[in-house]
Amino acid sequence: MARLSSERLKALDTAHHLHPFTDYKALGEEGSRIITEADGIYIQDAEGNRMLDAMAGLWCVNLGYGRQELVDAATAQLQQLPYYNNFFKTTHPPAVELAETLCRLAPKHMNRVFFTGSGSEANDTVVRMVRHYWALKGKPEKQWIIARENAYHGSTLAGMSLGGMAAMHGQGGPAVPAITHVRQPYWFTEGRDMSPDAFGQACADAIEERILELGEDKVAAFIAEPVQGAGGAIIPPQSYWPAVKKMLAKYDILLVADEVICGFGRLGEWFGSEHYGLEPDLMPVAKGLSSGYLPIGGVLVGDRVAQTLIEDGGEFFHGFTYSGHPTCAAVALKNLQLMEAEGVVEHVRDEVGPYLAQRWKELEQHPLVGEARSLGLIGALEIVADKAAGKRFDKTLGVGNLCRDICFDTGLVMRSVGDTMVISPPLVITKAQIDELVGLATAALDETARRLQAQGVA
Ligand code: PMP
Repeated sequence: MARLSSERLKALDTAHHLHPFTDYKALGEEGSRIITEADGIYIQDAEGNRMLDAMAGLWCVNLGYGRQELVDAATAQLQQLPYYNNFFKTTHPPAVELAETLCRLAPKHMNRVFFTGSGSEANDTVVRMVRHYWALKGKPEKQWIIARENAYHGSTLAGMSLGGMAAMHGQGGPAVPAITHVRQPYWFTEGRDMSPDAFGQACADAIEERILELGEDKVAAFIAEPVQGAGGAIIPPQSYWPAVKKMLAKYDILLVADEVICGFGRLGEWFGSEHYGLEPDLMPVAKGLSSGYLPIGGVLVGDRVAQTLIEDGGEFFHGFTYSGHPTCAAVALKNLQLMEAEGVVEHVRDEVGPYLAQRWKELEQHPLVGEARSLGLIGALEIVADKAAGKRFDKTLGVGNLCRDICFDTGLVMRSVGDTMVISPPLVITKAQIDELVGLATAALDETARRLQAQGVA
Protein backbone atom coordinates (compact mmCIF):
# COMPACT_ATOMS: atom_id res chain seq x y z
CA MET A 1 0.00 0.00 0.00
CA ALA A 2 1.42 3.39 -0.99
CA ARG A 3 2.02 5.45 2.12
CA LEU A 4 0.62 8.92 2.33
CA SER A 5 2.88 11.79 3.31
CA SER A 6 2.50 12.95 6.89
CA GLU A 7 1.14 16.33 5.66
CA ARG A 8 -1.54 14.53 3.66
CA LEU A 9 -2.38 12.26 6.61
CA LYS A 10 -2.74 15.27 8.90
CA ALA A 11 -5.03 17.02 6.43
CA LEU A 12 -7.22 13.95 6.01
CA ASP A 13 -7.27 13.39 9.75
CA THR A 14 -8.55 16.92 10.33
CA ALA A 15 -11.11 16.56 7.53
CA HIS A 16 -12.62 13.23 8.53
CA HIS A 17 -11.57 11.83 11.87
CA LEU A 18 -13.35 12.58 15.15
CA HIS A 19 -10.87 11.49 17.83
CA PRO A 20 -11.85 10.26 21.32
CA PHE A 21 -11.64 12.81 24.17
CA THR A 22 -10.60 15.63 21.83
CA ASP A 23 -11.47 19.28 21.26
CA TYR A 24 -12.01 19.03 17.49
CA LYS A 25 -11.53 22.69 16.71
CA ALA A 26 -8.29 22.93 18.66
CA LEU A 27 -6.95 19.74 17.08
CA GLY A 28 -7.90 21.00 13.63
CA GLU A 29 -5.80 24.10 14.23
CA GLU A 30 -2.78 22.21 15.59
CA GLY A 31 -2.93 18.94 13.64
CA SER A 32 -2.28 15.53 15.18
CA ARG A 33 0.91 13.69 15.87
CA ILE A 34 0.99 10.59 13.70
CA ILE A 35 2.48 7.51 15.32
CA THR A 36 3.73 5.04 12.75
CA GLU A 37 5.72 2.35 14.49
CA ALA A 38 6.91 1.03 17.82
CA ASP A 39 9.34 -1.39 19.37
CA GLY A 40 9.88 -2.42 22.99
CA ILE A 41 8.98 0.61 25.11
CA TYR A 42 9.55 3.15 22.32
CA ILE A 43 7.17 4.63 19.74
CA GLN A 44 8.05 6.61 16.62
CA ASP A 45 6.13 9.31 14.78
CA ALA A 46 5.84 10.03 11.06
CA GLU A 47 8.73 12.52 11.25
CA GLY A 48 11.00 9.80 12.67
CA ASN A 49 11.01 11.14 16.26
CA ARG A 50 11.45 8.37 18.83
CA MET A 51 9.77 8.58 22.24
CA LEU A 52 9.90 6.50 25.39
CA ASP A 53 6.26 5.54 25.89
CA ALA A 54 5.84 5.91 29.64
CA MET A 55 2.07 5.42 29.23
CA ALA A 56 2.23 1.96 27.55
CA GLY A 57 -0.15 3.28 24.87
CA LEU A 58 -3.21 3.90 27.02
CA TRP A 59 -2.13 1.93 30.13
CA CYS A 60 -2.25 -1.27 28.14
CA VAL A 61 0.87 -2.35 26.23
CA ASN A 62 2.22 -4.23 29.23
CA LEU A 63 4.53 -6.57 27.29
CA GLY A 64 5.83 -3.73 25.14
CA TYR A 65 5.60 -3.34 21.38
CA GLY A 66 6.81 -5.69 18.67
CA ARG A 67 6.20 -9.09 20.32
CA GLN A 68 6.32 -11.53 17.42
CA GLU A 69 4.71 -14.30 19.51
CA LEU A 70 1.51 -12.22 19.75
CA VAL A 71 1.55 -11.56 16.01
CA ASP A 72 1.99 -15.29 15.38
CA ALA A 73 -0.86 -16.19 17.76
CA ALA A 74 -3.17 -13.76 15.91
CA THR A 75 -2.08 -14.99 12.48
CA ALA A 76 -2.57 -18.66 13.33
CA GLN A 77 -6.03 -18.02 14.78
CA LEU A 78 -7.07 -15.79 11.85
CA GLN A 79 -6.15 -18.62 9.51
CA GLN A 80 -7.89 -21.34 11.49
CA LEU A 81 -11.05 -19.61 12.73
CA PRO A 82 -11.05 -15.80 12.52
CA TYR A 83 -14.46 -15.41 14.07
CA TYR A 84 -17.12 -17.37 15.75
CA ASN A 85 -19.43 -16.49 18.62
CA ASN A 86 -20.11 -17.96 22.02
CA PHE A 87 -23.90 -17.65 21.81
CA PHE A 88 -26.40 -20.48 21.36
CA LYS A 89 -24.42 -23.22 23.11
CA THR A 90 -21.27 -22.85 20.97
CA THR A 91 -17.72 -21.94 21.87
CA HIS A 92 -14.18 -22.33 20.51
CA PRO A 93 -10.79 -23.34 21.94
CA PRO A 94 -9.27 -19.85 22.47
CA ALA A 95 -12.24 -18.64 24.57
CA VAL A 96 -12.21 -21.79 26.70
CA GLU A 97 -8.46 -21.81 27.22
CA LEU A 98 -8.39 -18.11 28.03
CA ALA A 99 -11.24 -18.49 30.53
CA GLU A 100 -9.39 -21.34 32.27
CA THR A 101 -6.08 -19.46 32.36
CA LEU A 102 -7.64 -16.23 33.62
CA CYS A 103 -9.49 -18.02 36.40
CA ARG A 104 -6.32 -19.88 37.41
CA LEU A 105 -4.45 -16.57 37.70
CA ALA A 106 -7.32 -14.76 39.45
CA PRO A 107 -7.94 -14.92 43.21
CA LYS A 108 -9.06 -18.42 44.30
CA HIS A 109 -12.73 -17.56 44.73
CA MET A 110 -13.06 -16.29 41.12
CA ASN A 111 -13.74 -19.18 38.77
CA ARG A 112 -15.90 -17.73 36.00
CA VAL A 113 -15.46 -15.02 33.37
CA PHE A 114 -17.89 -13.19 31.06
CA PHE A 115 -16.02 -11.84 28.01
CA THR A 116 -16.55 -8.40 26.47
CA GLY A 117 -14.84 -6.30 23.83
CA SER A 118 -13.59 -3.54 26.13
CA GLY A 119 -13.38 -2.20 29.66
CA SER A 120 -16.48 -0.06 29.15
CA GLU A 121 -18.51 -3.07 28.05
CA ALA A 122 -17.17 -4.92 31.08
CA ASN A 123 -18.57 -2.21 33.34
CA ASP A 124 -21.91 -2.21 31.53
CA THR A 125 -21.97 -5.93 32.21
CA VAL A 126 -21.23 -5.26 35.89
CA VAL A 127 -24.24 -2.95 36.25
CA ARG A 128 -26.59 -5.49 34.73
CA MET A 129 -25.06 -8.43 36.56
CA VAL A 130 -25.16 -6.98 40.08
CA ARG A 131 -28.76 -5.83 39.73
CA HIS A 132 -29.74 -9.19 38.21
CA TYR A 133 -27.95 -10.94 41.09
CA TRP A 134 -29.87 -9.10 43.80
CA ALA A 135 -33.17 -9.63 41.99
CA LEU A 136 -32.41 -13.36 41.94
CA LYS A 137 -31.66 -13.21 45.66
CA GLY A 138 -35.18 -11.85 46.19
CA LYS A 139 -33.97 -8.28 46.81
CA PRO A 140 -34.81 -6.42 43.58
CA GLU A 141 -34.81 -3.12 45.48
CA LYS A 142 -31.04 -3.44 45.95
CA GLN A 143 -30.33 -1.29 42.86
CA TRP A 144 -28.01 1.53 43.90
CA ILE A 145 -24.36 1.40 42.96
CA ILE A 146 -21.95 3.62 44.87
CA ALA A 147 -18.98 4.84 42.86
CA ARG A 148 -16.49 7.66 43.40
CA GLU A 149 -15.99 11.19 42.21
CA ASN A 150 -13.24 11.51 39.60
CA ALA A 151 -13.33 7.76 38.90
CA TYR A 152 -13.08 6.50 35.31
CA HIS A 153 -15.00 3.38 34.34
CA GLY A 154 -15.48 3.88 30.59
CA SER A 155 -17.34 5.85 27.96
CA THR A 156 -20.46 3.82 27.29
CA LEU A 157 -23.55 5.18 29.01
CA ALA A 158 -23.13 2.89 32.03
CA GLY A 159 -19.35 3.37 32.08
CA MET A 160 -19.79 7.14 32.07
CA SER A 161 -22.49 6.92 34.74
CA LEU A 162 -20.30 4.84 37.05
CA GLY A 163 -17.41 7.20 36.39
CA GLY A 164 -17.23 10.36 38.43
CA MET A 165 -15.91 12.71 35.77
CA ALA A 166 -17.98 15.87 36.02
CA ALA A 167 -17.17 16.94 32.44
CA MET A 168 -18.48 13.65 31.07
CA HIS A 169 -21.68 13.90 33.10
CA GLY A 170 -22.17 17.35 31.60
CA GLN A 171 -22.57 15.91 28.09
CA GLY A 172 -25.01 13.45 26.58
CA GLY A 173 -26.99 12.74 29.76
CA PRO A 174 -29.12 11.82 31.54
CA ALA A 175 -26.95 9.15 33.11
CA VAL A 176 -28.04 5.64 34.13
CA PRO A 177 -30.24 5.94 37.24
CA ALA A 178 -29.43 4.70 40.75
CA ILE A 179 -25.70 5.41 40.62
CA THR A 180 -24.24 7.80 43.19
CA HIS A 181 -20.73 9.11 43.87
CA VAL A 182 -18.77 9.64 47.06
CA ARG A 183 -15.50 11.43 47.72
CA GLN A 184 -12.25 9.94 46.41
CA PRO A 185 -9.28 9.05 48.63
CA TYR A 186 -7.03 11.67 47.00
CA TRP A 187 -4.98 12.83 49.96
CA PHE A 188 -2.76 15.32 48.09
CA THR A 189 -5.63 17.47 46.82
CA GLU A 190 -8.38 16.80 49.36
CA GLY A 191 -6.89 15.56 52.60
CA ARG A 192 -3.79 17.51 53.50
CA ASP A 193 -5.37 18.98 56.60
CA MET A 194 -5.39 15.43 58.07
CA SER A 195 -2.94 12.56 58.36
CA PRO A 196 -3.22 10.19 55.36
CA ASP A 197 -4.67 7.47 57.59
CA ALA A 198 -7.29 9.73 59.16
CA PHE A 199 -8.23 10.91 55.66
CA GLY A 200 -8.47 7.33 54.35
CA GLN A 201 -10.83 6.50 57.21
CA ALA A 202 -12.89 9.64 56.51
CA CYS A 203 -13.31 8.58 52.86
CA ALA A 204 -14.44 5.11 53.94
CA ASP A 205 -16.84 6.72 56.42
CA ALA A 206 -18.31 8.75 53.53
CA ILE A 207 -19.33 5.48 51.87
CA GLU A 208 -21.00 4.29 55.05
CA GLU A 209 -22.88 7.59 55.40
CA ARG A 210 -24.16 7.22 51.83
CA ILE A 211 -25.25 3.63 52.49
CA LEU A 212 -27.22 4.77 55.52
CA GLU A 213 -28.76 7.68 53.58
CA LEU A 214 -29.91 5.38 50.78
CA GLY A 215 -30.82 2.50 53.09
CA GLU A 216 -28.62 -0.59 53.20
CA ASP A 217 -31.39 -2.69 51.64
CA LYS A 218 -31.23 -0.45 48.55
CA VAL A 219 -27.47 -0.64 47.86
CA ALA A 220 -26.26 -3.32 45.43
CA ALA A 221 -22.55 -2.64 45.04
CA PHE A 222 -19.58 -0.38 45.52
CA ILE A 223 -17.24 0.01 42.52
CA ALA A 224 -13.72 1.39 42.58
CA GLU A 225 -10.29 0.96 41.06
CA PRO A 226 -7.70 -0.34 43.56
CA VAL A 227 -5.58 2.65 42.44
CA GLN A 228 -7.39 5.30 40.41
CA GLY A 229 -5.65 5.57 37.04
CA ALA A 230 -7.18 8.16 34.74
CA GLY A 231 -8.12 10.33 37.74
CA GLY A 232 -4.41 10.89 38.34
CA ALA A 233 -2.70 7.69 39.57
CA ILE A 234 -4.27 8.15 43.00
CA ILE A 235 -2.89 5.71 45.55
CA PRO A 236 -5.26 5.57 48.53
CA PRO A 237 -3.96 5.91 52.10
CA GLN A 238 -3.16 2.55 53.77
CA SER A 239 -6.21 2.84 56.02
CA TYR A 240 -8.72 3.16 53.16
CA TRP A 241 -9.20 -0.32 51.70
CA PRO A 242 -9.31 -2.31 54.97
CA ALA A 243 -11.99 0.07 56.28
CA VAL A 244 -14.01 -0.11 53.04
CA LYS A 245 -13.82 -3.89 52.90
CA LYS A 246 -15.02 -4.28 56.47
CA MET A 247 -17.90 -1.89 55.98
CA LEU A 248 -19.17 -3.48 52.74
CA ALA A 249 -19.22 -6.86 54.48
CA LYS A 250 -21.19 -5.33 57.37
CA TYR A 251 -23.98 -4.16 55.03
CA ASP A 252 -23.84 -7.11 52.58
CA ILE A 253 -22.88 -4.96 49.59
CA LEU A 254 -20.96 -6.39 46.62
CA LEU A 255 -17.46 -5.11 45.93
CA VAL A 256 -16.54 -4.49 42.30
CA ALA A 257 -12.82 -3.86 41.79
CA ASP A 258 -12.25 -2.27 38.38
CA GLU A 259 -8.98 -3.92 37.35
CA VAL A 260 -8.88 -2.49 33.82
CA ILE A 261 -5.64 -0.65 34.65
CA CYS A 262 -4.46 -2.35 37.87
CA GLY A 263 -4.91 -5.89 36.53
CA PHE A 264 -2.16 -7.99 34.94
CA GLY A 265 0.82 -6.92 36.96
CA ARG A 266 0.60 -3.13 37.13
CA LEU A 267 0.81 -3.05 40.95
CA GLY A 268 3.24 -5.97 41.21
CA GLU A 269 0.58 -8.67 41.66
CA TRP A 270 -1.56 -10.30 38.99
CA PHE A 271 -4.45 -8.13 40.19
CA GLY A 272 -4.43 -4.87 42.15
CA SER A 273 -7.03 -6.42 44.47
CA GLU A 274 -4.38 -8.85 45.69
CA HIS A 275 -2.04 -6.03 46.63
CA TYR A 276 -4.77 -4.66 48.92
CA GLY A 277 -6.28 -8.04 49.96
CA LEU A 278 -9.70 -7.05 48.56
CA GLU A 279 -11.43 -10.33 47.61
CA PRO A 280 -13.93 -8.58 45.30
CA ASP A 281 -17.13 -10.15 44.01
CA LEU A 282 -16.57 -8.90 40.45
CA MET A 283 -13.48 -7.71 38.58
CA PRO A 284 -13.87 -5.98 35.21
CA VAL A 285 -10.67 -6.35 33.16
CA ALA A 286 -9.40 -5.27 29.71
CA LYS A 287 -6.29 -3.43 28.42
CA GLY A 288 -3.34 -5.50 29.76
CA LEU A 289 -5.30 -8.71 29.19
CA SER A 290 -4.01 -8.66 25.60
CA SER A 291 -1.28 -6.03 26.17
CA GLY A 292 -3.56 -3.92 23.98
CA TYR A 293 -2.65 -5.87 20.82
CA LEU A 294 -6.30 -6.65 20.16
CA PRO A 295 -9.47 -5.40 21.90
CA ILE A 296 -10.77 -7.71 24.60
CA GLY A 297 -12.18 -7.36 28.11
CA GLY A 298 -14.23 -9.31 30.58
CA VAL A 299 -15.73 -9.57 34.04
CA LEU A 300 -14.25 -12.09 36.44
CA VAL A 301 -17.05 -13.36 38.66
CA GLY A 302 -16.63 -14.63 42.21
CA ASP A 303 -18.23 -17.90 43.29
CA ARG A 304 -20.95 -16.23 45.35
CA VAL A 305 -22.40 -14.32 42.37
CA ALA A 306 -21.63 -17.01 39.80
CA GLN A 307 -23.42 -19.69 41.78
CA THR A 308 -26.63 -17.66 41.95
CA LEU A 309 -26.48 -16.74 38.24
CA ILE A 310 -25.96 -20.37 37.30
CA GLU A 311 -28.35 -22.05 39.74
CA ASP A 312 -31.22 -19.58 39.74
CA GLY A 313 -30.68 -17.18 36.84
CA GLY A 314 -32.19 -18.82 33.80
CA GLU A 315 -30.97 -17.12 30.64
CA PHE A 316 -28.82 -14.01 31.12
CA PHE A 317 -30.06 -11.73 28.35
CA HIS A 318 -26.75 -10.01 27.74
CA GLY A 319 -23.76 -10.42 25.41
CA PHE A 320 -21.72 -8.95 22.59
CA THR A 321 -20.91 -10.12 19.07
CA TYR A 322 -17.26 -10.00 20.10
CA SER A 323 -17.61 -11.61 23.55
CA GLY A 324 -14.61 -13.95 23.63
CA HIS A 325 -13.63 -13.19 20.01
CA PRO A 326 -11.36 -16.09 19.02
CA THR A 327 -8.50 -14.04 17.58
CA CYS A 328 -8.51 -11.58 20.49
CA ALA A 329 -8.74 -14.49 22.93
CA ALA A 330 -5.83 -16.30 21.26
CA VAL A 331 -3.66 -13.20 21.59
CA ALA A 332 -4.74 -12.64 25.21
CA LEU A 333 -3.95 -16.27 26.02
CA LYS A 334 -0.49 -15.99 24.49
CA ASN A 335 0.04 -12.69 26.31
CA LEU A 336 -0.73 -14.32 29.68
CA GLN A 337 1.46 -17.32 28.84
CA LEU A 338 4.37 -15.00 28.00
CA MET A 339 3.83 -13.02 31.20
CA GLU A 340 3.97 -16.21 33.23
CA ALA A 341 6.96 -17.69 31.38
CA GLU A 342 8.94 -14.45 31.66
CA GLY A 343 8.03 -13.72 35.26
CA VAL A 344 6.73 -10.26 34.35
CA VAL A 345 4.67 -9.84 37.53
CA GLU A 346 7.68 -10.74 39.70
CA HIS A 347 9.84 -8.37 37.62
CA VAL A 348 7.46 -5.54 38.59
CA ARG A 349 7.07 -6.60 42.23
CA ASP A 350 10.72 -7.36 43.03
CA GLU A 351 12.82 -5.40 40.52
CA VAL A 352 11.47 -2.44 38.63
CA GLY A 353 8.60 -1.47 40.96
CA PRO A 354 10.91 -0.85 43.94
CA TYR A 355 13.50 0.75 41.65
CA LEU A 356 10.95 3.14 40.15
CA ALA A 357 9.73 4.00 43.67
CA GLN A 358 13.27 5.03 44.63
CA ARG A 359 14.13 6.96 41.46
CA TRP A 360 10.70 8.59 41.11
CA LYS A 361 10.78 9.85 44.71
CA GLU A 362 13.95 11.79 43.85
CA LEU A 363 11.81 14.02 41.65
CA GLU A 364 10.25 15.45 44.82
CA GLN A 365 13.44 17.51 45.08
CA HIS A 366 12.40 19.44 41.97
CA PRO A 367 11.06 22.95 42.69
CA LEU A 368 7.86 22.24 40.69
CA VAL A 369 7.01 18.90 42.31
CA GLY A 370 4.80 18.85 45.40
CA GLU A 371 4.56 15.07 45.57
CA ALA A 372 6.07 12.15 43.64
CA ARG A 373 4.28 8.86 44.30
CA SER A 374 4.30 5.42 42.74
CA LEU A 375 3.20 1.86 43.37
CA GLY A 376 4.41 -0.96 41.15
CA LEU A 377 4.60 0.64 37.72
CA ILE A 378 2.07 3.42 38.09
CA GLY A 379 3.19 6.84 39.24
CA ALA A 380 2.35 10.52 39.42
CA LEU A 381 3.96 13.91 39.97
CA GLU A 382 1.95 16.76 41.45
CA ILE A 383 3.09 20.02 39.86
CA VAL A 384 2.67 22.95 42.24
CA ALA A 385 3.33 26.67 42.39
CA ASP A 386 4.17 26.52 46.09
CA LYS A 387 5.77 23.35 47.41
CA ALA A 388 5.32 24.02 51.13
CA ALA A 389 1.61 24.80 50.83
CA GLY A 390 1.01 22.29 48.00
CA LYS A 391 -0.66 25.15 46.12
CA ARG A 392 -1.43 24.62 42.44
CA PHE A 393 -0.81 27.01 39.55
CA ASP A 394 -3.76 28.93 38.17
CA LYS A 395 -5.76 26.44 36.09
CA THR A 396 -5.84 28.75 33.08
CA LEU A 397 -2.07 28.43 32.70
CA GLY A 398 -2.46 24.77 31.70
CA VAL A 399 0.87 23.84 33.28
CA GLY A 400 0.25 20.09 33.09
CA ASN A 401 -0.44 20.26 29.36
CA LEU A 402 2.62 22.48 28.87
CA CYS A 403 4.79 19.88 30.61
CA ARG A 404 3.17 17.06 28.59
CA ASP A 405 3.85 18.86 25.31
CA ILE A 406 7.47 19.49 26.32
CA CYS A 407 7.77 15.78 27.13
CA PHE A 408 6.49 14.86 23.67
CA ASP A 409 8.94 17.24 22.02
CA THR A 410 11.86 15.85 24.01
CA GLY A 411 11.18 12.14 23.59
CA LEU A 412 8.90 11.11 26.47
CA VAL A 413 5.22 10.24 26.56
CA MET A 414 3.85 11.26 29.95
CA ARG A 415 0.18 12.09 30.48
CA SER A 416 -1.24 15.15 32.19
CA VAL A 417 -4.41 15.06 34.30
CA GLY A 418 -4.80 18.72 35.17
CA ASP A 419 -1.42 19.51 36.75
CA THR A 420 -0.76 15.91 37.71
CA MET A 421 1.75 14.13 35.48
CA VAL A 422 1.11 10.41 35.20
CA ILE A 423 3.16 7.40 34.10
CA SER A 424 2.24 3.77 33.54
CA PRO A 425 5.09 2.31 31.46
CA PRO A 426 5.24 -1.14 29.86
CA LEU A 427 5.90 -3.74 32.55
CA VAL A 428 8.96 -5.04 30.69
CA ILE A 429 10.83 -1.77 31.28
CA THR A 430 14.38 -2.26 32.62
CA LYS A 431 16.18 -0.37 35.38
CA ALA A 432 18.37 1.38 32.78
CA GLN A 433 15.21 2.48 30.95
CA ILE A 434 13.77 3.77 34.23
CA ASP A 435 16.92 5.88 34.58
CA GLU A 436 16.29 7.19 31.07
CA LEU A 437 12.63 7.91 31.92
CA VAL A 438 13.53 9.81 35.10
CA GLY A 439 16.22 11.76 33.22
CA LEU A 440 13.75 12.79 30.51
CA ALA A 441 11.12 13.71 33.11
CA THR A 442 13.64 15.85 35.00
CA ALA A 443 14.65 17.66 31.81
CA ALA A 444 10.98 18.27 30.95
CA LEU A 445 10.28 19.67 34.43
CA ASP A 446 13.32 21.96 34.11
CA GLU A 447 12.10 23.21 30.75
CA THR A 448 8.57 23.71 32.13
CA ALA A 449 10.03 25.78 34.98
CA ARG A 450 12.08 27.84 32.50
CA ARG A 451 9.00 28.59 30.37
CA LEU A 452 6.95 29.54 33.42
CA GLN A 453 9.74 31.86 34.57
CA ALA A 454 9.86 33.42 31.12
CA GLN A 455 6.13 34.12 31.51
CA GLY A 456 6.83 35.58 34.94
CA VAL A 457 4.71 33.03 36.83
CA ALA A 458 7.35 30.90 38.57
N1 PMP B 1 -12.10 1.18 33.62
C1 PMP B 1 -10.92 1.78 33.84
C2 PMP B 1 -10.35 1.79 35.22
C3 PMP B 1 -10.23 2.37 32.78
O1 PMP B 1 -9.07 2.98 32.99
C4 PMP B 1 -10.79 2.32 31.49
C5 PMP B 1 -10.08 2.92 30.28
N2 PMP B 1 -9.13 3.86 30.51
C6 PMP B 1 -12.03 1.70 31.32
C7 PMP B 1 -12.65 1.13 32.41
C8 PMP B 1 -12.69 1.64 29.99
O2 PMP B 1 -12.03 0.76 29.16
P1 PMP B 1 -12.22 0.87 27.56
O3 PMP B 1 -11.59 2.15 27.13
O4 PMP B 1 -11.52 -0.37 27.08
O5 PMP B 1 -13.66 0.81 27.28
